[in-house]
Amino acid sequence: MVEVEQLVPKPRSRFVKVRCPDCGNVQVVFSHSSLTAKCFKCGRVLVQPRGGKALIIAEIVEFLT
Ligand SMILES: [Zn+2]
Repeated sequence: MVEVEQLVPKPRSRFVKVRCPDCGNVQVVFSHSSLTAKCFKCGRVLVQPRGGKALIIAEIVEFLT
């Protein structure tokens, strides 16, 4: 997997624990995902792919290293 560093600002963590703004479900998502990540419970889109960096549309609980 090739990463374009210029498009990936800090933090460089790859996995992020997020809380769904709709149902409060907490799950771990891949912060550089090329796939859309949805909430396991309610199906809300939590991560949208944006080129090299995914857009996280949820409350970030913590960055995992
Ligand atoms: Zn949810």
